[in-house]
Formats: sequence, C-alpha cells, structure tokens
Amino acid sequence: MQIPFNRTFLAERELEYLTEAASSGHTSGDGPFTRRATALLRELTGAPSALLTTSCTHALEITALLLDLRPGDEVIMPSFTFVSTANAYVLRGAVPVFVDCRPDTLNLDERALEAAITPRTRAIVVVHYGGVACEMSTVLQIAGRHGIPVIEDNAHGLGATYRGRPLGSFGALATQSFHATKNVQCGEGGALLINDARFAERAEILREKGTDRSRFFRGQVDKYRWMDLGSSYLPSDVLAAGLTAQLEAFGEIQRRRHAVWAAYHAAFADLDLVHPAVPPGIGHSAHLYHLLLPSLEQRQEMLKHLAEQGVQGTFHYQPLHSAPAGRRFGRTGPGGCPVTAAVADRLVRLPLYAGLSDEEVARVIDAVRSFRPGPGAAPAQREHRAEVPS
Ligand SMILES: *Cc1c(COP(=O)(O)O)cnc(C)c1O
Repeated sequence: MQIPFNRTFLAERELEYLTEAASSGHTSGDGPFTRRATALLRELTGAPSALLTTSCTHALEITALLLDLRPGDEVIMPSFTFVSTANAYVLRGAVPVFVDCRPDTLNLDERALEAAITPRTRAIVVVHYGGVACEMSTVLQIAGRHGIPVIEDNAHGLGATYRGRPLGSFGALATQSFHATKNVQCGEGGALLINDARFAERAEILREKGTDRSRFFRGQVDKYRWMDLGSSYLPSDVLAAGLTAQLEAFGEIQRRRHAVWAAYHAAFADLDLVHPAVPPGIGHSAHLYHLLLPSLEQRQEMLKHLAEQGVQGTFHYQPLHSAPAGRRFGRTGPGGCPVTAAVADRLVRLPLYAGLSDEEVARVIDAVRSFRPGPGAAPAQREHRAEVPS
C-alpha cells in the first residue's frame, strides 16, 4: 500500500453540514455556513474582518485590486513561493521584484528586503513557508519606515504564531488557502483577512462583482448597484459548510499534524540533512515537513527510493525569478536569489496530514532512514550514511 503525499481529512460533522447546506435551499454564497466559517476564522486569526473567497489566489487578486496597482508598480515578494503570489499582481500590470530566501526557514530574507525597495514599490508580500513565520518585526519596521503596506500570503500558516501573535494578523491584508492540500480544506477555497479597516468596505464590494449587494442584504441600502471593479470571488455556502466542519475540528487536525511533524523531526535529528528550522519565538503550523538533500541527483535518488518503499515524497516550488513567466513579467532584486536557486532542486517533502496513522509515520521514517546515496554522491555523505543505523 502506497502512502500518498496527501490525503484529505474528513471532519466529524463534515458530511452532515454538507448535506444540510445542499438541502437548505441556500447554496449560493454568503449563507449561514459562510457566516459560521467566517466567525471561526476570525476567532483563530484575530482578524477584525474576514471574507471567504473561492481561493487564496483570488484573495491575493483582491489585495491587488485594493492597492490600486498600476502598470509598472512594483511588488516585492520571495522567489520561493507559489505562482499565485506573483500572478495576482502581474494581472494588474505590476512587476514582481523577487527577493532571495533565508537558508534556514526558506522565508523571504529580511536582510535583502530594504535594498529591493524603490520609489515604485507599492507592497511587500511575505509567505510564511511551511507555516514558520517570517521575521515579521524586521519586515514591519522596514515597511513602516518606507510607508509600504505588508501583505501576508498565509496559505501555510493558519494557527501559527510569531511572538505569540497569530500569523495573518501582521499585514494590512492577509490571505488563507483552503485548497485540498492545506491544513484546513474545502477542496478549493480561501479567505481574505482585513486587518487595516480602510480596506474593509471596498473589499466587500470587489468580492461581490463590484456591487454593494452585501450592504443591500444587510438592509443598509434599498437596491444594489455597480460601484467599482470586481469579480465573483465568493464561494458557495456548500463549500463553506465543509469548511465550517473543518474549522470546528481544527484543534484535532493540528494535534495530529504536530504529532507527525514532531515524530519526523525526532527521527531525523541525527541525519546529515537540513531539516526545517523553527527560530525561537515562533509557533509553526505543522503544514509541511521537508528535508534538503546535498544535490539535485541525491534528491531524485531519494524520491525514487521513497517510491520504492511505497512512500510518495515530492519536491516543491520552482524558483519564480528564473521561470519563463518570472523573467517576462518580473525582475530580481539586488543580490539575486542564489539561496532559492540552490535549495529548490534539493528539497523533498514528506507525507504530513491528520489522517496519517502511527504505522504509516513509522514506514515513512524507515523509508527515509534506509536511503543510501549512490556511488556518485559526495564521500562525506557516504561515510556519514554508513554510521546511520537502519
Ligand atoms: C496553496 C498556495 C496558494 C494558492 O492557494 P489556492 O487556494 O489554491 O489559490 C498561494 N500561495 C501559497 C504560498 C500557497 O501555498
């Protein structure tokens, strides 16, 4: 039996809520389950206001609309992230400016941030890789000094903290993903967290096709009209029903994910591979567990070895700065992205989800520990490997 890279978790009341929503007559957006899921999300993140969206990609697109970006405006972001972080701004004609990542957390390197700022910089987007917080104190200091808004792409970081404060609460705006591969999921879904109240009213309009329909439904206006740009960014209440059940089970989901993460971390502590780093003061979200191999060749060998052992490992982000569209639409900040280029080819992610059994965790651990690099590998690595008990 193959252990897949991801398996979606079915929360205790998920099927019940899905049935309730589907039979309620209210299957369009902003129904009772949307209100419940939104309230749970606000509780978790401390966001003064939150809007469910059809994806994290769409929530990022709303941030680009809210910032009134114009062609040629610049948005600073890491090269080591998902394409949506960049595309959301490119769609508005903005230029992504790619900054390198830190070798330990693989988050945007705050030491390279200030040098990437120009008079055209309109936003700084951070991604908390694996749900391990960026160095937010430094990021916010630099952004504040230049009067540039910070946006958190918090797709990985639901429930994670930086110095005791939830991720998603630091930026003027933050985005969440409820894609099937994320800690909490409804297949496809997301949310926009609005921490800066100046954006709240307009965000609601942009999400509702550019109309004030939300105010109409609340009885605040007697008809709804076309007010602004916009699109259809609200999810069906059926999806919100599944999400409500997932958010209610968040404690359980996280306990199980953290147990798997901790088991991997302990089991691989003596391996001469680079493990995820969690700097002091940070509470991570157990979103993913990765290992860095010494070379691309060994990474490929590791993936093959895992597959032979019935474990589906996988790689992760390909650098955006050197991707075809990254070269076309973006530019690289001063100093380039050497760390991003060096880590992307060497990374392996292991299965990590709430439905993973203890026996499966043990099988993944055995599969990783029984890896022996081939004859082409660096001698130091082979010597070390020889000392590793299997
Ligand atoms: C998953 C992910 C997204 C996209 O999320 P969707 O909900 O699938 O649009 C964006 N950014 C990051 C960092 C992600 O991991």
